[in-house]
Amino acid sequence: MHRQPIPKRGSVFFEMKLKDNFHRIIDYLRISVTDRCNLRCRYCMPEAGIPSMGHGSIMRYEEILRVARVAVGLGIRKIRVTGGEPLVRRGITEFMRQVIQLPGLRELTLTTNGVLLEEKAQELYDLGVRRINVSLDTLTREKFAHITRRDLLMTVMNGIQKASEVGFYPIKINVVAIRGFNDDEILDFARITEKHPLHVRFIEYMPIGDGMAWSADCSISAEEIRSVIQRYRPLEPVAHYNSDGPAQMFAFVGAAGRVGFISSLSNSFCNSCNRLRLTADGKLRNCLFSDEETDLLALLRSSATDEQVAEMLTRCIRSKPANHLIHTGRIRTCHRSMSSIGG
Ligand code: SAM
Ligand code: SF4
Repeated sequence: MHRQPIPKRGSVFFEMKLKDNFHRIIDYLRISVTDRCNLRCRYCMPEAGIPSMGHGSIMRYEEILRVARVAVGLGIRKIRVTGGEPLVRRGITEFMRQVIQLPGLRELTLTTNGVLLEEKAQELYDLGVRRINVSLDTLTREKFAHITRRDLLMTVMNGIQKASEVGFYPIKINVVAIRGFNDDEILDFARITEKHPLHVRFIEYMPIGDGMAWSADCSISAEEIRSVIQRYRPLEPVAHYNSDGPAQMFAFVGAAGRVGFISSLSNSFCNSCNRLRLTADGKLRNCLFSDEETDLLALLRSSATDEQVAEMLTRCIRSKPANHLIHTGRIRTCHRSMSSIGG
């Protein structure tokens, strides 16, 4: 295998920064490790699942690890493992154990639907993961069974409980707000933070994936969600940390947790976007809402050197668009399903 020298702490390369053409520092890589999932959220996957990519076209762990190593060598400092559902892929914790040991990486995080969290939380914590995001769109058993097509709300709740017991902090609960589905639960979600040290973050429902049931009417703006909560109790702005990403964070006075809003559509945060995405089948994406992809897997399988991999990563970052055009109506959707991009 061709190896790129790993930048050493203290060397001039250690704090190397990857910049795109709009002077944004790109230091965050989101890796989708599988397109498979144990849920079937209606806005993300059809009932039968998406046609499987097939074993040969999914990146092998050693391939992902190589990309991660080269990317960290270039200046990536944070990696998020996502999917499909990352915890369904066999060997995921061993893979994460290797990623977290990459010199120069500051943080490894995970986005999960929580179904396998009770089983895996301790192992994840022990290998060094400290922050996780759990997606949960409803607190009602029947509605959960409806939106995910699986009756597993209690399993997810037990997973969150276990993650909290083993020490994950903060645990972020990501709620996609959908009019007519969970708009009547906005307050219930926000009020969880009064007693529990959770970060509940409302995400605007986005037009992603062909055939999904998105419509502008179903999307609720962050501002509208916030005003629903404010009618109950004022939300105070709180300090914003790097780890909050694009979320605007608030809290009720005296609350244990926080409430956040991610306004991908109504108030895009493209000007501070620091992300690069790698899909499960090895395509690099420099914008969630663009269908433009770079085939990194083909390069890896053509006996490319690490320098060539680094060059492709750099080129992809340089061509990151200034912003997405989704709110202009010029692009209706991103055609790939969210499950294969990883969110
Ligand atoms: N299976 C994991 C999970 O659900 O957390 C990780 C992958 S999932 C694709 C990542 C995130 O994307 C989830 O929080 C999910 O709710 C979100 N998501 C999927 N489709 C979306 C859409 N159309 N608009 C907004 N968020 C979406
Ligand atoms: Fe699976 Fe996550 Fe998509 Fe739901 S949102 S179907 S849990 S990948």
